[in-house]
Formats: sequence, C-alpha cells, structure tokens
Amino acid sequence: MEKEMRTPVIAGNWKMNKTPYEAVALANELKNLIKAPRCQVVICPPFLDIPVLFSELNGSCIKMGAQNCHFEEKGAFTGEVSVKMLKESGCSHVIIGHSERRQYFNETDETVNLKIKAAVNGNLTAIVCVGETLEERESEKTEEVIKRQIEGALKDIDELSFAKIIIAYEPIWAIGTGKTAQAAEADVVCGYIRELIAKKYTKQLARTTRILYGGSMNSANAKELLEQYNIDGGLIGGASLKAGNFAEIVSAADSI
Ligand code: PEP
Repeated sequence: MEKEMRTPVIAGNWKMNKTPYEAVALANELKNLIKAPRCQVVICPPFLDIPVLFSELNGSCIKMGAQNCHFEEKGAFTGEVSVKMLKESGCSHVIIGHSERRQYFNETDETVNLKIKAAVNGNLTAIVCVGETLEERESEKTEEVIKRQIEGALKDIDELSFAKIIIAYEPIWAIGTGKTAQAAEADVVCGYIRELIAKKYTKQLARTTRILYGGSMNSANAKELLEQYNIDGGLIGGASLKAGNFAEIVSAADSI
C-alpha cells in the first residue's frame, strides 16, 4: 500500500513556549519516553532554545525544526533568522506559512514560496502549512483556499525539491480551539491536496508526498486521524508541550 511507503511524521510546534531551561527539561522527558519510533519525530522549539537543544538531542531519535525562517541568505533584516543559521544550529526541518504567521506577521503565499525555496536550497525540510478559516469552510470555499495556497506555495518549485517538502493541512478553526476536524473530513482535504500535486506534477509524486494534519490533535484522537489514507502524520501544538501526550501520539502513529 502507498500509505505504508510514506513514513509518518509527528512534529511538535512549541510556538512561543518554553524557555531554554524549560526546553531542556521537556527534551529530556521526551528522550526518555521516545526511544526507537518507527515514525519520524520532530520538535520545533522557539529559536533561542535551538542551540541548547542541539547538544541535548545529539544522538537521540528526535529531530529539530524551527518555526520560521527568512528567505534571504543574510543581510539587513533585523530580527530575522536565516536557513544557514538554523542548519548550523542543528535544525533539519522548518515550519513555513503557519496560520499564526500568516495572520499576525503578514506571511503571504508569496513569502511562503520564497521561504520554501530558501529552505530546500539550504537542505532543510520545509513543513508547509495550509488551511482555511471557519468562515471559508462554512461558505464552502475550502478547496478554493487550499488550491490558492498550494499553488502559491509551490510556484516554480520542481519535483526534485519534494524530497524536502512536507505539507501540513491545518484548518485554522481547529488550531488551539479543541475542535478537531472529523477524521474523514480531514482525509478528504488531504486527498484534495494530493490531487493538486498530481495535477501539477505527477501521480507518483502525489502518492509519495507526506501530508500531515494539524489542529487540536491529541492522544485521544490521534489514532483515528492518523489511520486515514491521506494523513501521514501530525503537526501538534498544545499536546506537544506535555511529554506524555506527545509520546502517546508517537505511539499511535507507530501502531498503524
Ligand atoms: C499548530 O499550532 O500547528 C497546532 C496544530 O496547534 P494545536 O495542536 O494546539 O491545535
């Protein structure tokens, strides 16, 4: 089965939580609970925690990602962080276009596209977020919004770059709200993303691209979501801040 060929990814987005000291404590708890997962496990702490966690996670099975990056290599961009800096500090992944960045920091489809190119060129795996608002969903615009975001994000990106691209479908109304998309509903949208990739590239690429679901995923609902054909893992906010909860989601992914 194609689903089995796609190694699941469980990624934790810590957002603006955990000071460096707190981050070390959480990373240590995670290391004790997650020993040899079959899925890929990634944590995405705040920038300042990254160098501290680099040595802490060294030799463990937990990979590290950032929550954002700039698209330029270097220069006068006060407050920004480049892909090269992230790479050198131990990151293998970077979240791009999270809805909170789109909403609060003017991230657009265009900047998302530039950031994906920068990440891929700098050898980081981009976890590219797309998702509709509640209003868009209720007015049946989900597909239109997802199409615009996916086409914008992937503009002038070639098939080879997909070795370093993961898509995360995150309905905005489900992020941090405790409301999860029904597993079947989430699967339909992830399937639609796969169709868009098949149309733009090839069916084979659509079959092998990993598509995650994010939005109030927790240890109670993870298994049902992760069992869906088109869902290859989760991007997890709130539940990634408690080691036990996150480890249970990893176990749910491993049990499928
Ligand atoms: C997220 O921030 O990507 C997310 C999915 O958050 P939560 O799990 O808290 O809804």
